Amino acid sequence: MSTDLVNDQALEAEVKAWLAEHWKPEALVTGEGFGRHPQQAFMTKVVEARWAVPTWPKAWWGRDLAPAQAKIIERAFAAVGAPGAGQDKSNLWANTAMAHATPAFKETIVPALLSGAVGMCLLYSEPGAGSDLAAVRTRADRRGDNYIINGQKVWTSGAAVADYGMLIARTDWDVPKHKGISFFFLPMKQTGIEVRPLRQVTNEAQFNEVFITDAIVSAENLLGPLNGGWGVLQTALAYERSVMGDAARGPRSGKDNPKGDGALIELAREAGRLNDPVIRQELAQVTAYKVLNRLNNARAKADMAQGTSSAIMSLGKLAMSRILHEEARLRTKLLGAASLLEGPDHPRAEDANFLSLNAYFTSIGGGTDQIQRNIIGERVLGLPKEPEIDREMPFRDVRSG
Ligand SMILES: Cc1cc2nc3c(=O)[nH]c(=O)nc-3n(C[C@H](O)[C@H](O)[C@H](O)COP(=O)(O)OP(=O)(O)OC[C@H]3O[C@@H](n4cnc5c(N)ncnc54)[C@H](O)[C@@H]3O)c2cc1C
Repeated sequence: MSTDLVNDQALEAEVKAWLAEHWKPEALVTGEGFGRHPQQAFMTKVVEARWAVPTWPKAWWGRDLAPAQAKIIERAFAAVGAPGAGQDKSNLWANTAMAHATPAFKETIVPALLSGAVGMCLLYSEPGAGSDLAAVRTRADRRGDNYIINGQKVWTSGAAVADYGMLIARTDWDVPKHKGISFFFLPMKQTGIEVRPLRQVTNEAQFNEVFITDAIVSAENLLGPLNGGWGVLQTALAYERSVMGDAARGPRSGKDNPKGDGALIELAREAGRLNDPVIRQELAQVTAYKVLNRLNNARAKADMAQGTSSAIMSLGKLAMSRILHEEARLRTKLLGAASLLEGPDHPRAEDANFLSLNAYFTSIGGGTDQIQRNIIGERVLGLPKEPEIDREMPFRDVRSG
């Protein structure tokens, strides 16, 4: 028997005993997303007990564990439905700060990000910079110990409730576009930041326009080197794509409706079509996509654990987008004409319509399907880069419409 096995058993016993003492299953409340977590007290204990990011160094809230041992902790948390484990893979905010913030800023911000004490948003996209993020025109100008921010962001999910935004802004206009961008943690609750909600096709209003006029951010909140923000952004995007490639929102109407892998099978059974050979084939295809995607994401995460920002994340995100569209199509097909109904008396149809529209969330947010295909073509398959005439010229000379 290997020493590792003994350690594994001791670790499993320790985490289970800790959960038995601290976790009250009836207390589970779903997280709001965007960083802030409603179960502050429990999440703080998870961080203090070093269960949140066990693969990180001991000096930084971790336990220096190998990924395989971290899995033991994740499984124990999942078995009782407790939140907070596995954040070394899933918490895009904390992982980005951990990789690129100064030690002093990490000391304050990372525990707050891990325990969900602060709400977060991503201040990347602008009216003239979406797929081509390197075209951002929001500017950051140094004044004393601070930077002064001016510009406009758009499609900013969670901005209305965020305490900080991860911001990309231009700090040098005389170099090519990728080389003059810096990455900041911008405090959102200040005069100079105006947030206006945008209504989505699903009738929700989670994302916003953000107008920034002379907002102030301390130079302490700069992540990575000045003008080196493009590299920091790659870390943050890889984590975002990993999360989007792993998970999807379920139906809006809650637990009466089947979620997860068995949901469509249950719907097919209800519709009396479980023995229809064509439906069975389509169900099998969606299930096969999901299984393959899970394996692919595990491969990409192993790459990230080795410190590489894996382009395979793009494959996972693209696959998830396809899975969601396929599931939505099949769900609508199973309901047939009933899918045209709306309202609280028709929860199945409500779900089908919501999920059909919501599938576009994953096709666009975090970089569109077309952009993921470009990344896979260039960085995974090694195909030639697409032509970009403004790539090497000083950004000041780039024409914009
Ligand atoms: C639900 C949701 C949440 C979002 N949340 C945030 C957020 O929190 N923060 C944030 O900053 N942004 C957010 N976004 C914005 C998102 O990242 C952008 O919408 C996305 O990157 C596309 O940019 P765009 O909308 O400007 O489209 P454009 O870049 O104008 O693209 C328009 C179309 O052209 C295609 N296209 C563009 N360039 C190429 C190319 N080189 N090759 C092939 N096709 C191309 C695109 O695929 C797309 O179909 C969110 C979007 C959604 C849908």
